[in-house]
This record gives sequence, C-alpha cells and structure tokens, in this order.
Amino acid sequence: MSERILIADDLATNRIVLKVKLTVACYEVIQADRCADVVTLARDTRPDLIILGRGRNDCSLATCRNLKADPTLGSIPIIMVSDQDDQRTRLEAIMAGADDVFSKPLNEATLMAMVRSLIRARGTDDEVLRRRDLSRDFGCAEAPALFARHARIALIAPDAETGIYWRMHLATEIRHKIDIMTQSQALEDVSALGGVPDAFVIASTLSETSDGLRLVSELRSRQTTRHSVIVVQDCGETPSPSSMALDLGAHAVLRPGFDARELALRLTRLLARKFEGDDLRASFNTSLALAVRDPLTGLHNRRFAQSYLDRLEREARQKDQSYAIMLLDLDRFKSINDRFGHPIGDEVLVEVARRLKEKLRDLDLLARYGGEEFLIALPGVTRLQAQAMAERLRRAVGDRPIGAGVLPKGIPVTISIGVAVSGGLPGGTHELLQLADQALYRAKADGRNQVTFVSDAA
Ligand code: GH3
Ligand code: MG
Ligand code: MG
Repeated sequence: MSERILIADDLATNRIVLKVKLTVACYEVIQADRCADVVTLARDTRPDLIILGRGRNDCSLATCRNLKADPTLGSIPIIMVSDQDDQRTRLEAIMAGADDVFSKPLNEATLMAMVRSLIRARGTDDEVLRRRDLSRDFGCAEAPALFARHARIALIAPDAETGIYWRMHLATEIRHKIDIMTQSQALEDVSALGGVPDAFVIASTLSETSDGLRLVSELRSRQTTRHSVIVVQDCGETPSPSSMALDLGAHAVLRPGFDARELALRLTRLLARKFEGDDLRASFNTSLALAVRDPLTGLHNRRFAQSYLDRLEREARQKDQSYAIMLLDLDRFKSINDRFGHPIGDEVLVEVARRLKEKLRDLDLLARYGGEEFLIALPGVTRLQAQAMAERLRRAVGDRPIGAGVLPKGIPVTISIGVAVSGGLPGGTHELLQLADQALYRAKADGRNQVTFVSDAA
C-alpha cells in the first residue's frame, strides 16, 4: 500500500514536476490547484503528507495555519516549498505550522528524504493516536499537560567555545536546561549525567562519513534515546543536501550558520510532540494495560479485542487494506485438565500464548478470547501470507511437547485454526470473526490439528 501525498500549488508546472518525482517513488499523489480546496480535499482523502507550494497567489501560510488548527487534520505533516531560501521565509513557514521547509532549486534527494522522514514520524504519531483513542475507549483519563514541561537539551557543538556561544544564544529563546556535550559523552551512559536528554542538537557536516551523522544513527537506534528529538546543525561552508541526515533519523537539518531563533522554534515544536508521545506511552503501559490484559497469559483480553476489531475495520476501509482474522482453539484441552490437573492446564495455556506471540508482529492482535481460545488479527496481509502464518502458528504449538510441572517428556498439545481473510467476503471484522469461528468448527470436525479457511469451510 502506498502513502498518499497531497500537493497544493496554483502553478501547474510546479505540481507536475513534483508529481512525477513522487509517483516514480511509488507515492499516490493527489493535486489541488487552489488553496481554498486544500482543507476540504485533505478531509476527504486523508493524506499522509501535504506539500504546499507558495505558487503565485501566496495563500499557503494561511492554508498551513488552517490545516494545523483543524483537530482532524492537525497531525498531518506539511512541507512548505518556497522559491526563496532566506531566514524570514523559513521562519514564517515554521511559525505557520510547517514541519519542514524546502527551498528551490529542487534537490530531489533532500525532498525525498524529507518526505520519508515525515511519513515515518507520522507512523509513530498514528501509533500515539491509536493509544489515545484506546485509552479513551476504556475510560482511562490522560494526565493533562497543565504546565510547559522542562526539557533537557544536549548541544554537541564542533568545539567548546562554539558550544558556549550556542548555549548563550539558545538560552535567550528557550527556557530549558541546556548542556554542552562531546560526541562521546552523548554516547556514554547519559542517564548518569542527570537524565537522558529529550533533544540532541548535533553539529555535523552532511557528508556520509561524518562523525556527527554516525552519532545520529547511533542515538536513533539505542533504546534510551530512540524517542529523543534530533536536530542536525549543518556546519559545512555552504548548504549541502540533507538527505543522509534525515534518512538516518534526524528530525530536522538546519542550514549552515547558527540561527538560535529557528532552532528554538523547531525544538519547541518537536519537543511538544515528543512529550505527548512519552506521556501516552507511559499511561498506556500502566493503567490501560491492567484493564485490557488477561492476568493468566498477559495477552490482551476479549474486551480489548472487540475494540481493536472496530478500529481495524475502520482503518482497513480507509486504507483499502486487507486483513486476516483467526480463531485458534486448543485440541482436547479438557483431557489435559482431567489428566494432569487444572494448574498444569494453566501452565500449558501460558506457554501456548508465549509461542504464538513469538511468531507475530508487534502490530498484530493476539488476544485470549475465551478459556482455551485465542483470537488473532493480522492487518495488511494477503490470503497467502495469512495461510503461511497460520501454518507457522500451528507448528509452533504442535511440533514440540510443552514442558509443564515435573512431567519429564512434556505434554503434546495441538491447536486448530479457523481463518477468514477480508476482501471477497461480505461484512466487517465481526462478521469475519463469525466466519472464522465456523471454519474452526470445520477444522475440529475434520480431525483437529489443522488450519481451515472460510472458503474451504463454506
Ligand atoms: P476441542 O478439541 O473440541 O476444543 O476439545 P476441548 O476439550 O478443548 O474443548 P472443551 O470446550 O470441551 O473444553 C475446554 C476446556 O478448557 C474446558 C475448561 O475447563 C478448560 N479451560 C478453560 N479455561 C481454562 C483455564 O483458564 N485454565 C485451565 N486449566 N483450563 C481451562
Ligand atoms: Mg478446545
Ligand atoms: Mg474451546
């Protein structure tokens, strides 16, 4: 499935140049030739990114502000394309809400990296929004951000003197704690230095081999700094393409020549988004987890599954994406309880859950749906992929006996699986679930320890 990009520019030539480049890169492109249409078109088409050209009738700033003020569109990233490459133009765009500013002449690699970087960040935002909606569904209130948070910003300047200069100027624009660090300090145990920085500003040339860019990629891949804001300050002589830095995980790359005002604006925006993500992750992981988990296996429970299915149905429709739903049931589980006792039965359930989870992706749903019955939903898969996965799951349980209690050889356990894949089948997730249940029934009737698809069962 390709991401959708809305290009708005009143000059047809501008749109065509962009459209060609984006289409070649496999994005789906929608065009607007009038500023006045952008908000409505964005509402109708739900793009993953908007590129606003400044065209002849310069209403792009107002459009940008309108988009950002709209509660349903505000999270869509915006790149503003401008003919001028000066500080005033950039600041205006950022203050109007643009996530990045692209100045002509067109450097294709940089533009494409900006597109990738913002769409990637939006993926994280989507995850944050999904958690927020789920928290609401389950009545878990979020802690409101009543006061501006104090952030820790690490400056990794080219040398100590520049670091002091940067800090002095940045401190007049932003009220956060600013530390000057060397590259190696940034990679040391940062928590020992008084907490992991929320943002890193890294001086670097933009060449492939620069230490600064290596630091970007290292910080991005580490568990502790994975969600930190990273801004690269280009310290080359003249502006160079920023594609490498963005692809390595920088949120923004600033032009040569330190501009405290622009840096402060960018940091403020990026930090607000980071804190929102931090808060949601934290609250989701604690209060909500308790309400939606099964205490025995630690998997999601039936209540969570219902809500997940509603959301999956909406998203699949919006994105025109297929998905699979599976119901899994342990074979002759009652006899395991009867022979070895209920506590051993519990241990078997826990181990089956663990083996299933190991095979699934993070975005898949695995829920304990009933006593010895599991529900799995796989977003964005084809029938073939679902078939391969179902077979992997069946074998993950059936191929090796389950060690439980003190039983030396373990207990052989098998599962039966009913699968329904959307597309070609009527109804939404809940109807598909019923069909998967019928397929499961067939798998049982046909001898158990097997995978049955809905169409096979019809
Ligand atoms: P089939 O192959 O037809 O599915 O046979 P089965 O024995 O698995 O199916 P049945 O529905 O007759 O029995 C399910 C058993 O699962 C009955 C119930 O006691 C047991 N069970 C349900 N929840 C739990 C649990 O949390 N722990 C344990 N130990 N057993 C459970
Ligand atoms: Mg059973
Ligand atoms: Mg059952």
